[in-house]
Amino acid sequence: MRREANGNIDRWVKSYCPYCGVGCGLLAGVKDGAVVKVKGDPDHPSSLGDICAKAVYLPETLRTQDRLLHPQMRRCQDGPFTQVPWETALRAVARKFREIISEYGPEAVAFYGSGQLTTEEYYVANKLAKGFLGTNNFDTNSRLCMASAVAGYKRSLGSDGPPASYTDIDLADCFLLIGTNAAECHPVTFKRIKQRKMQDPERVRIIAVDPRRTETADFADLHLPIRPGTDIALLNGMLYVLVKEGLVDRDFIAQHTKGFSEFMAVVEKYPPEGAEKICALPECLIVEAAMIFGKAKKALSFWSMGVNQSTVGVYKNNAIHNLHLATGQIGRPGCGPFSLTGQPNAMGGREVGGMAHLLPGYRDITNSFHREEVARFWGIPAEGISPKPGYSALDLFEAVAGGKVKALWILCTNPAISVPDADFIEKALRRADLVVVQDAYHPTGTTQFAHILLPAAQWSEKEGVMTNSERRLTYMPEIAEAPGEALPDWKILTLFAREMGFQEAFPYESSEEIFAELAQLTQGTPCDYSGVSYERLKKEGPLQWPCPAPDHRGTVRLYSDFRFSTPDGRANFIAVEHQEPFEVPNQDYPLVLTTGRVKHQWHTMTRTGKVQSLSKSSPDPFLQMNPADAKQHGIRDADFVEVMSRRGKAVVQVRVTEEIKPGACFMPFHWGRQFGFYKAANNLTISARDPVSRQPELKACAVRVKRIMDFPQGDT
Ligand code: SF4
Repeated sequence: MRREANGNIDRWVKSYCPYCGVGCGLLAGVKDGAVVKVKGDPDHPSSLGDICAKAVYLPETLRTQDRLLHPQMRRCQDGPFTQVPWETALRAVARKFREIISEYGPEAVAFYGSGQLTTEEYYVANKLAKGFLGTNNFDTNSRLCMASAVAGYKRSLGSDGPPASYTDIDLADCFLLIGTNAAECHPVTFKRIKQRKMQDPERVRIIAVDPRRTETADFADLHLPIRPGTDIALLNGMLYVLVKEGLVDRDFIAQHTKGFSEFMAVVEKYPPEGAEKICALPECLIVEAAMIFGKAKKALSFWSMGVNQSTVGVYKNNAIHNLHLATGQIGRPGCGPFSLTGQPNAMGGREVGGMAHLLPGYRDITNSFHREEVARFWGIPAEGISPKPGYSALDLFEAVAGGKVKALWILCTNPAISVPDADFIEKALRRADLVVVQDAYHPTGTTQFAHILLPAAQWSEKEGVMTNSERRLTYMPEIAEAPGEALPDWKILTLFAREMGFQEAFPYESSEEIFAELAQLTQGTPCDYSGVSYERLKKEGPLQWPCPAPDHRGTVRLYSDFRFSTPDGRANFIAVEHQEPFEVPNQDYPLVLTTGRVKHQWHTMTRTGKVQSLSKSSPDPFLQMNPADAKQHGIRDADFVEVMSRRGKAVVQVRVTEEIKPGACFMPFHWGRQFGFYKAANNLTISARDPVSRQPELKACAVRVKRIMDFPQGDT
């Protein structure tokens, strides 16, 4: 904690940004006990003092009119809420959970959490659900975000965990940015890439792969505007060129990998002229991208939702890993595949087993040895943890809709807006016997379906640890008091666990105790942070795992000895083939809709939507269309159109622009139905999902577009 005079600020406190997975360090300026200003923390190794506009305006999101201040209950989803004491609310939830479990079994109750929970909160929720309630139905919105990356790392490298660090950006001479608009979605990371480029503009080359000419693509040396969903054909095509040009690392392949010849049998099917047809991209661009990557001494690949949110998201991740394994671009300074996490603590969630198929320490529910280890640690019989994975996010909502899950507790997230096919999600939430929503705000798109509302403390009002995209743990202090009766999420869950009769296993009086317990449980696992403590994080600053001992300084880079986390230490080449998205365009639905974010908004806008300065650049959703498509549909720039998919419709204003490829259109997903029913992009999206990761294909569905209104003349 710094104590210094700075204008009107009483003190500056080190913290961590609660928005995206870049994980910037913040300095929160406190005046009269309230956070009134935020700036970058120059000592934070991940961000070096930089932040983006979203963090700057955090103080405006704290004491808003719509803060949820007290527990509230109602008899039915259309009735009025009544304020109740905490004890009454938690007792009511416990009673209903007990009734449902005794009548239908533990699988009839479920939790749906968020990458915005702290690691400690994730841990308590997981322990409670999987170890004590007997249900593995704890899944999170990370399923919409990073599940394909998790499975991709495991299949290729033997374990989850991005191998590289941000410091590698300063050393790389080639950046492959695929399916990521980092300039807008991970702006501080992108700024570091930009700085690296500007240091050595001739040598450092940036390749951007995106159907849209985004701000990221605009800065790149080479933009590959592929047809949505064709990344695997492109990456296989690049590998074909690398092999033919002798730009693969044969020694690395022989000594540290397996499966290369089977993999090559598939790559042979993707000469660049073939990939050209699939990707709708000139062959010369594929060759040029391959040559840049292959000749680079140090190459880093970044990706995010454009790769992960796909019915072949895991395969796309494997295709990226193949590229790095074939060229030996991994485990060395300046190299590596590097997935960018969407949320501030999606990584922490993975570490504590915050998905329905995982247990803490990257352990698997289906692995009996892992279950025994965790059960022993929790002091329960081995059979206390069910061997059956719980429902993953979309499967969970289907189970609610089908009456298999009767009670759903939603923490710190807004699925009514963020999950694809909004109609279906609403129907599911209406079907549940009990919906508990634990949030900092009310109303949100989801709280309107709650029977019981629990007020949660948010950023700056509770302490905890979060892990960012580069495996770095940062301590986040409680700086100011939470308003009303709001409590930290870990505290709410602990009180509930005690109400359910598990006092002994949930003795926690502080999040520090929870972290210490979890840290022990990670010992000997790939994400070992048994050497990390609150004391160290406060004294020494953020640390990167693995960090297995109190005197260990943390690990900058994984696999620097080229021994991977597979049983034989060799990384796996995975032969993957191109597959079309689940829903391909046809005469009735001729365009592919892709969804994403705008620069100054975050997820479903429960926070950023309250800040006028952030809303100025995009006050409403819009649809980007290529001029050729617009002309064909009789649409002019700024016309209002109806966008229709097989699931629903939205009404938006069109931006006719060359920035998007013909045949594709783009709409941001932040706006939900409460902003105007037809503003919601997820009215349109599809719940088709990757068979391995269960991550939905939010990046591609078929739509048609019809002009409904000219842009009013003179109204500019
Ligand atoms: S880049 Fe991400 S982590 Fe950094 S300040 Fe912006 S939103 Fe926060």
